[in-house]
Amino acid sequence: MKKIALAAAIAAIVAAPAFAQTYPNKAITMIVPFAAGGPTDIVARIVAEPMSRALGQTVIIENVAGAGGTTGITRGAGAAADGYTLMMGHMGTHGAAPALYPNLKYDPAKDFAPIGVAAGTPIIIVGKKDHPANNLKEFIEWAKKQGDKSNHAHAGIGSVSHSTGILLNSIMGTKPTFIPYTGTGPALNDMMSGQVDYMTDQIVNLVGQINAGTVKAFAIATAARSPALPNLPTTKEAGIDGYEVSAWNAVFAPKGTPADVVKKLEAALNSALDDAGAKKRLDDLGAVSPVGNDRGSIALQKLVETEVARWTPVLKAAMAASK
Ligand code: ASP
Repeated sequence: MKKIALAAAIAAIVAAPAFAQTYPNKAITMIVPFAAGGPTDIVARIVAEPMSRALGQTVIIENVAGAGGTTGITRGAGAAADGYTLMMGHMGTHGAAPALYPNLKYDPAKDFAPIGVAAGTPIIIVGKKDHPANNLKEFIEWAKKQGDKSNHAHAGIGSVSHSTGILLNSIMGTKPTFIPYTGTGPALNDMMSGQVDYMTDQIVNLVGQINAGTVKAFAIATAARSPALPNLPTTKEAGIDGYEVSAWNAVFAPKGTPADVVKKLEAALNSALDDAGAKKRLDDLGAVSPVGNDRGSIALQKLVETEVARWTPVLKAAMAASK
């Protein structure tokens, strides 16, 4: 009996590195927890391509939308921890969701093997192109006057657009009618056809449409202007103090993924971030690429812990104010 147990133990020890040596030997799925065409999908598709090259296997994007991104992340958290299912989580699914989902099926800080941040994504306050307001001050006045007659788009409770949006409303003291979507890709389409009035969304989804004039941007919620949209004022410049929010998108594997596999994925993500083509695409869309110590697994674990702690009280208060 003892011999068999010992043999099994030795086999397990030997098997671990052997697995990592052969990993990956088939395609990898990366779950994007929103509809195709939105910011998280855009970031995932840009990094998946050079990651595939670095890993020698295709990284396939699967859009699993619902419940502000928590449906796809719940599915990914429960997948086999073998490195073949990854997730593109973000500030919503791994920062805001615990405040807004009392029965959340995963713990952002405990149920994942973090791989690394793929892109920081500043938030922009944006409206439909024929919005009557022409700057942030006018927008705030308009929103106050409209009350629940204004339509505010978001990508589901706990998403980045929802959480940053309810925070904006609580600062403005407004209670609009919410129009939820499965992602801000479809929300932006409806905004371009004038069906919704405004939203707060990640820059990577918006640069093209803002420059084309198919939507109207009021301000970027960062301390400094973005090189991708140099004419867009910051919220502070445009007249709101205290609305500085920036999101991020990051790659996660399920908890229990072997350490060697995590290392390979971390290296592949880093090489994707250093890939000249991917970097240019992300830069042009206004994404902020992590550098140095902000990269990788350890930094992402810390970021998740900090973000959950930071967002929970703020969002609970904003949610209470929105009722
Ligand atoms: N990630 C976006 C959000 O949280 C939605 C999307 O990617 O479509 O609002």
